Formats: sequence, structure tokens, C-alpha cells
Amino acid sequence: MPAPDEETQKATNQKADASGEAQPPRQPTDNMTPFEAATYFFHNSADRLDLSDEHREVLASTYRELSVQVPVRMDDGGLVVARGYRVQHNGARGPYKGGIRFHPSADLDEVRALAALMTWKNALIDVPFGGAKGGVQCDPRVFSMPELERLTRRFTGMISYIIGVNRDIPAPDMGTNAQTMAWMMDAYGKKNGYTPGIVTGKPVELGGSPGREEATGRGVVICAQEVAKSLGVEFDGGRVVIQGFGNVGFWAAALAAEAGAKVCAVSDVDGGTYNSDGLDLAAVVEHQKAEGTMATFAGGDKVSNDEILELDCDVLIPAAIQGVIHSGNADRIQTKLLVEAANGPTTPVADQILCGRGIPVAPDILANAGGVTVSYFEWVQNIQQFRWEVRDVNEELRKKMTAATRVVLERSESDGTMMRDAAFDIAVERVARAEELRGYV
Ligand code: NAD
Repeated sequence: MPAPDEETQKATNQKADASGEAQPPRQPTDNMTPFEAATYFFHNSADRLDLSDEHREVLASTYRELSVQVPVRMDDGGLVVARGYRVQHNGARGPYKGGIRFHPSADLDEVRALAALMTWKNALIDVPFGGAKGGVQCDPRVFSMPELERLTRRFTGMISYIIGVNRDIPAPDMGTNAQTMAWMMDAYGKKNGYTPGIVTGKPVELGGSPGREEATGRGVVICAQEVAKSLGVEFDGGRVVIQGFGNVGFWAAALAAEAGAKVCAVSDVDGGTYNSDGLDLAAVVEHQKAEGTMATFAGGDKVSNDEILELDCDVLIPAAIQGVIHSGNADRIQTKLLVEAANGPTTPVADQILCGRGIPVAPDILANAGGVTVSYFEWVQNIQQFRWEVRDVNEELRKKMTAATRVVLERSESDGTMMRDAAFDIAVERVARAEELRGYV
């Protein structure tokens, strides 16, 4: 990847200083924040595309950021005051769209980064949405269900001024699920009337789409199969390793196994289990339910979250949190293909190291776009008040994921760039064009 020349770097520094925006380093470093990392990939793309300064200024920063206090009455009578955020990055291509995360690391910088990634992802997969993200900085595992419900309703009330069916549509992300969306829909509906299209990822009984729950994992597998086929890597029949066993990781594992892959290792926040002959996933789930951990599963060897990333395999799928592949372990990654199911799992420094080592990376904005794709189908169904069949949802998802993956592979081939560069270039071009057509720049 070519380094930006000194003049470009100086000009960007000056402009950023004048506009008061945080200045992202133009050379990747180990201590980049998530938003600096996301902005770094954007600036690299802007350099390749020779994007105007005006475009850069608009697209490198966020449109709107809301930070709210979320007081929650606990079951024991005490009060916990959490901090919540909704960040809207860019809305040139449609209403803002992005998940809500409940996680201890969900601060403003992380939510900004995830909002920007949503802008690029939605443009790349070609759904008519801009990018947004939300988060509440908390550990959902320590809350009871009634406490989580109170937190969700309070947060929804606080961000209700800037969301809307044609304005900004939240969805689940880490630490949230269909139940969270049901509470959000209900809380919003109490003020505004029945509005199922206000969130996606709802339970099917409340207007959710069949196929949404598994959509991100399904999209990951479709993307992995397509890239593997193109690069001569084995997926169906290959050895697959997955970090993170929540919504995305579980479904990616189940659908990879269904396709014939040997899922050799999986992990959750407390560690994982490894069997080079392939794991019995149903038994892993059973054990985890009974024991609260998969690390003690008898059908595999205990493996830590650091070790799992370094296992020898055909396809490695990080499906948990950001920044897990970094300068400290990128040299030891042994996979033939990395497929980013999580958002931002590879730091920019690690990305350069993997590139130097010839390890292909299917980037997050492509690989995990299946979730927002079916969220789009859900939104369409809510607006039309017409339910699709699950086979139609899955078929349309396959078409969208396959088309986007092929476009990225072709662009990567024709420009001689890595898949991440190709994906960003396509997305940034589309958003920049929408900005121009609307007359913003
Ligand atoms: P989830 O909360 O359902 O599951 C997260 C999993 O990661 C759990 O197994 C958890 O134990 C594990 N985990 C948490 N912290 C970890 C750590 N420090 N080390 C290792 N494992 C850890 O979340 P999810 O919805 O499956 O999301 C996972 C990733 O996929 C996130 O990066 C999210 O942004 C991304 N993503 C999710 C969707 C979606 O539709 N849910 C869509 C696109 C991208």
C-alpha cells in the first residue's frame, strides 16, 4: 500500500487543524483509536481516488453525534447511570442505519468508527441507507432482564428525537438482540403510534423478517465461499476457525458446517475449544448452556482467545470485537484467508503486515454486510406491510452478497489492490457521487 507523500500529509494536517477535527495519523500506528483506524482506511481510499478536499472534509467527519445520560433503576433499588450514544455519519444515500451495541468499550470514539463503517458498508452492498451506530457503555451480562428492559426503554426515549422510519433506523449489534429491538419498537410506538419500521432485527412475531437472525452469519459464509473459490482456498471441506460465538459467530459456524466445512475451533469471551477433526457444534452449544463456558468441553482442547487466532486453518473468521489482530500477532496468523465477520477486527498496522505476508482479507464492510441487507428487506416489508417467505429473503441475500463480493474481487484484480482497498474505493466513490448529486459538495 503506497504511503501518502509528505505534501499530502501536510495539507491534510493543516485542513484538519483549521476545522478542529481530530487528526487521524496518516501512517498507521499501534495506538490508533477505532475512529482513527476507520478514518485511515477512508483517507487511503480518498488518496487513490484523488477525492477533492471538500469531499474529504465532509466524509471524514460525522454528521451528528448525540451523547445521553441513561439512568437505570436496578432491581435492588440502586441507580446505575450509563452513557449512551447515537452517531449519524453520513446520510447522502438514504436514512441513517446501524446497530445498537451494549458493551463496556462502547464509547463515543468506537461508536463513531462503527457509524462510519456503516456508511461504507451500506454503499458497498448497495442498499439505500446512510451510516449510523449507537451504543450504551455497559456490561449487559450483569443486568437482569427487567433492568435491561428499563435501560433499553430509557435509551430509546432519549434518542427518539433523531431516529425515525425515514430518518434513522437502529438494529441489534453486540450485546443486543431481537428482544432489545422489541422493547425499542414498543417504547418508540408509545409516543409515536405503531411504527414497526423504526428498528430492524425485531422478533418475527412483531414484524421482523424471517432470516434476519442468521443473516449476518449467512452473508459471511456466502462471501467466504465466493472469495475462497476465486483465490483457490478450500472453504466447503476446509478447516474453519471462528472467534466469537454470539449471533454472528454461531450462525457462521452452523452454516459453514452445513456447507461441509470442518469447524475446528470456536470461542466466546471466556475462551474456546479446538478439535482439528472438526467440532460437534450442537454438543458445544449444549455444553455451553449447561456449564456457562465452552472451555471445558470434552470434545475439544481448551484454547484461549489469543491462541485461537493463530491456529493453522484455511479460513479464519473473527466474529467478536475490534482490534484483535494487531501488530503483536499479525506475524503469527496462519490462515490462508481471513474473513472479517466482526467490525474492525484487524488494526491498520496488522492489515499492512498481512498484506506483506500475502494473506488475503475479506474486509468487514463486505463480509458482514448480510445483516444490514436483510435489515433492508425487513424495512421494506414493514413499509409495504407484506411478509416475504424465508426462501425469498435468503435468495435475495445470496444475490446481493455474491454480487458485492464479485465486484470487490474484480476491482481488486483490475486495480492491483487488496480487497479492503477495492471495497473502500467502490463505497467512497458511491457516497461521494451521492453527495455531488444532492448538491452538498
Ligand atoms: P453478540 O453479542 O451476539 O456476540 C459476541 C460474541 O463475542 C460472544 O460470543 C461474546 O462472548 C464474544 N466476545 C465478546 N467480547 C469478546 C472478547 N473480548 N474476546 C473474544 N470474544 C468476545 O454479538 P454479534 O451480534 O454476534 O456481533 C459480533 C460482531 O459482529 C461485532 O463486531 C458486531 O459489530 C459485528 N456485526 C454484527 C452484526 C449483527 O447482525 N449482529 C452485523 C454486522 C456486524
